[in-house]
Amino acid sequence: MLRNEGRTYIKEPARETEVFDRCEVLVVGAGPAGVTAAVSAAKNCRGKVVLMERFPYLGGMATGGQVIAIPFLSDGDELLISGVMDEWIDRLRKKANGVFGPLRSELGSTDETVLNKYRHHGLFGMKKVRYGVNCDPELLKVALAQMVRDYNITVYCNCVVCGAVTEEGKVQGVLFESKEGRKAILADVVIDCTGDGDVFAAAGAEYEMSSFSTSRSANTALVFRIGGVDYDRYAENYKGTPENPHAFDEKFAGLSKAAGFSIRPFSSNRNDIMWINNWIPRNCMSVKDLTETAFLVFDAAERITEYLRDNFIGMENAYILDFASQVGTRGSRRLKGVDRFTRDNIAQRTGRDDLIAVVPTLGGNEEYARMEMPYGIIVPEKVNGLLTAGRCFSSEEKANEAASWIPYCIALGEAAGAAAALSVNGNCEPRELDVGLLRRTLKAQGVYLYD
Ligand SMILES: Cc1cc2nc3c(=O)[nH]c(=O)nc-3n(C[C@H](O)[C@H](O)[C@H](O)COP(=O)(O)OP(=O)(O)OC[C@H]3O[C@@H](n4cnc5c(N)ncnc54)[C@H](O)[C@@H]3O)c2cc1C
Repeated sequence: MLRNEGRTYIKEPARETEVFDRCEVLVVGAGPAGVTAAVSAAKNCRGKVVLMERFPYLGGMATGGQVIAIPFLSDGDELLISGVMDEWIDRLRKKANGVFGPLRSELGSTDETVLNKYRHHGLFGMKKVRYGVNCDPELLKVALAQMVRDYNITVYCNCVVCGAVTEEGKVQGVLFESKEGRKAILADVVIDCTGDGDVFAAAGAEYEMSSFSTSRSANTALVFRIGGVDYDRYAENYKGTPENPHAFDEKFAGLSKAAGFSIRPFSSNRNDIMWINNWIPRNCMSVKDLTETAFLVFDAAERITEYLRDNFIGMENAYILDFASQVGTRGSRRLKGVDRFTRDNIAQRTGRDDLIAVVPTLGGNEEYARMEMPYGIIVPEKVNGLLTAGRCFSSEEKANEAASWIPYCIALGEAAGAAAALSVNGNCEPRELDVGLLRRTLKAQGVYLYD
């Protein structure tokens, strides 16, 4: 036993670890960023692409976390996030009740009949239709599994990556724990899509992890879904009553009080199901905090459902349908990259020649404001053989909050996957990659870069 600064340590014996597999591109973490990165790598890579995930399904927060709203893909009349994102949606649209949301042909519509279909699903625009979808999280698991199969991607699930293999400042692969024990996978380029930066932290890359209680990203959640609702009738509550136009807001305030933390029900892909989003200020890298978040929600879920049943039209038959199988974490480690995404990159139209994604801003009806994402925000400042994508990209905290939503993570994943494959093909480090070549490749995949 060793003691250091009040903590007790044990010394583990040195060991030899078997190499389980080798590949050209290894993507760690199969959330929105990771699945997209793997697909984009497979489109461009002449060799083998491996996708590793700690859970038995793909999709991260979008499936296991029950974060089922993928909004803000367009701005004004333009679709800004397409590419692999289109393929996610097209595959889901083919499944019964796979998605709810505007059709591509309705994007930008100001027609009242069209707007009325989406008016009470606030993420799809109030005065002009914005493109986006609410997904069925279970069918999304199926669609993503079919997608990686179709691109011939090797998937290893139930593997928790717990270390990086590095030599002379270059990542050579990762270590993982599984039912087969501790093993290694070696790769020419690794993409860290764990959302928490587990790989870049283990590889010794520098990162930030600030959190303050008012920030969205300092809040964890355990989403759950309720069934037996009639969302169209529930939306009638919004206008209040003839006697009291503020009736909805007043009842709504009681909801978070009943829960003991901040909560909000949202529409889903079906009229009879809603998802209950929540915000619980906890540290997403603490075992105790993550456990506490889940148990706070388990404890409150019956109270919340009862309050909904008793107070809102359309909720009379509400019941707990299911809980997300993973705790929701909004922010975490953020890589220190060659470049850093700041508030200066928001509401811009510079047209810089190193942009790998140009995405809409959040919110109702803003037009022509863009967020510009340069290549340097996914490239570590110092470590080689490594890229990142998803919510842990290089960014200041406030800017990250605005740019870490699912569609933006998907856009970064598409860029990271293509960049990794092109680096392998060109036998160069990701930091040396010709960004012009990357941009041409992304445009050919349907990615919007102002044209
Ligand atoms: C409650 C909540 C509500 C939200 N609401 C919305 C919303 O309405 N719309 C929206 O667009 N965004 C929303 N967000 C944000 C969005 O969900 C995330 O920013 C987005 O999912 C991040 O994608 P990602 O791929 O970077 O990470 P994640 O979705 O977190 O995926 C990371 C993946 O990596 C895996 N992983 C992690 N560590 C390891 C490891 N060591 N080894 C192996 N695998 C690992 C995880 O299991 C997971 O599959 C919300 C987030 C939360 C928590």
